[in-house]
Amino acid sequence: MSAPILEVQNVTMRFGGIVANRNVSFSVEEGAITALIGPNGAGKTTMFNCITGFYRASEGRILLKGDGGDEDIGDLVTRPISGGSHLVTRAGIARTFQNIRLFKEMSVVENLLVAQHRATRNGILSGVLRTSAFRRAEREAIDRAYYWLAQMGLVEDANRLAGELPYGRQRRLEIARAMCTSPRLICLDEPAAGLNPSETRELAQVIQRLCSDHDQTVLVIEHDMGLVMRISDHIVVLDHGEVISDGTPEHVANDAAVVAAYLGVS
Ligand code: ATP
Repeated sequence: MSAPILEVQNVTMRFGGIVANRNVSFSVEEGAITALIGPNGAGKTTMFNCITGFYRASEGRILLKGDGGDEDIGDLVTRPISGGSHLVTRAGIARTFQNIRLFKEMSVVENLLVAQHRATRNGILSGVLRTSAFRRAEREAIDRAYYWLAQMGLVEDANRLAGELPYGRQRRLEIARAMCTSPRLICLDEPAAGLNPSETRELAQVIQRLCSDHDQTVLVIEHDMGLVMRISDHIVVLDHGEVISDGTPEHVANDAAVVAAYLGVS
């Protein structure tokens, strides 16, 4: 087993009187696929929003582990003046959304260039002086964009408007866009939502290749249990905001607490 890249430590997230996550702890192993599952309203998206810096957890810590020390996600989000989720992206966590959020009026390749601009400290496209360093950065951004388009089977779509792509391709474009920022951890929020069975099979291969070919660490929320059981190395199950099971797909599938949660028995 490899080292954890992310540690969620005793995280509680409250919205007024609603407790969406209660004392949640789990870790994400480097180079593995970890799934976060649970019935509707279990607190999965809220947990993702804490990990990716959209929310600061009410209590507890989320640590992105690194050779040069750990980054505390909560501190990045609330750092005075410049703090926010963009610092979490720069620290190495990228995400996709339950509802696809592409720039639909931009071309496919432009979506990937904008993502890199946002993930880079000075911005690749914002250089006013066309210095050789700027031109080199621009060239690298374009090369990286086409590399990930090729990995996702989208090269022929490069100059189409993102909004014109079939839904399954838009989902893959979202993953390409996140991968363009060279993340240490990619968080996929219900990537199979709205996909037909053959698109879901293609997606499973795409996610597995991220790990096998690129040593990518993946954290995924997904309701499609067939997909989760097929691709995950490790599964964390939430119910009513709390972790009720954590382990291999086999362990979780045979855990009576998980079966009860999905059948609505308490
Ligand atoms: P689903 O699978 O249906 O997407 P989920 O497991 O992702 O659900 P969350 O969306 O995290 O669950 O919601 C967990 C709980 O927190 C729910 O009761 C939800 O209504 C509540 N909640 C989430 N976001 C907010 C918010 N911004 N304000 C108030 N309550 C919220």
